[in-house]
Amino acid sequence: MKCLKCTNSIPEGRLKAMPGTKVCVSCSDTPKWYVRNIISGKTTYSEAEIIKDPEVAKKLRKMDRRSGWGSNLYKC
Ligand SMILES: [Zn+2]
Repeated sequence: MKCLKCTNSIPEGRLKAMPGTKVCVSCSDTPKWYVRNIISGKTTYSEAEIIKDPEVAKKLRKMDRRSGWGSNLYKC
């Protein structure tokens, strides 16, 4: 999936958060969201939790870093 404006590829996490998106983060004017990948146990089950509130995202980011279990953290 490529950005329509700058032709950079759009990160998977962003596509997951916004399936209809056509542009990358830098070309988008919507605020950055925080996506946490929640993976449980040995199953292939995984779920992405999307935090749209920047303040909450900031807190969670700190918390995840401290506890060390936030496996895949990225901006989208
Ligand atoms: Zn772009």
